[in-house]
Amino acid sequence: MADATPGSDARGFKSDPAERLGMYAVVGCNECAAMWLLTDPGASDSANCPRCGKTHRTAKLKRFFESDDRDAAREARAALLAKKHGDSAAFAEIEHVSELERAVDDAGIDDREYLEASGIDADAVSEAAARAEGGGSTSRSRTEILRDAVRAVDEPTEDAIVAHASERGVPADAARELLTKLTRRGELSESGGRYRVL
Ligand SMILES: [Zn+2]
Repeated sequence: MADATPGSDARGFKSDPAERLGMYAVVGCNECAAMWLLTDPGASDSANCPRCGKTHRTAKLKRFFESDDRDAAREARAALLAKKHGDSAAFAEIEHVSELERAVDDAGIDDREYLEASGIDADAVSEAAARAEGGGSTSRSRTEILRDAVRAVDEPTEDAIVAHASERGVPADAARELLTKLTRRGELSESGGRYRVL
């Protein structure tokens, strides 16, 4: 089989996704795993993650879904997030979820691919963030303290976990934020107000 690609791209990209005509793209941040809707992804070279602020090269952002229909892209994002979180209740609220899932399947997306794409530096980022937030003077990071708190308390509700963690030096609001962050990242799961470590 001949290599039909003209030697224009020394970096070896198979094809240029920026040339596809999606007006709206659901993209993911490889730093914090946020997913957001990017309007007109072909129009600018860079895009900032709305959660962590990282500047991405638009062409390198992972695209989970593209459409010229903004509503379809929004619904796809919601479905992807629901799927990522294993949240069947959120799924049920989406009317055409089977359609969206098919579209997502057609696009070659799966959870593993997503997690691999988004999770590579998640731990390092989280540890660095914990240090930056002032956890550097303790031997254990806030993430570790919070994770231990989830395991340690009898009733792993948000209040109990936060109380446990704050007794060990994590300020309550930081603990709450971290709880949300770790859940969003799939390191913890929440069901009926109880958390557990995955
Ligand atoms: Zn981000």
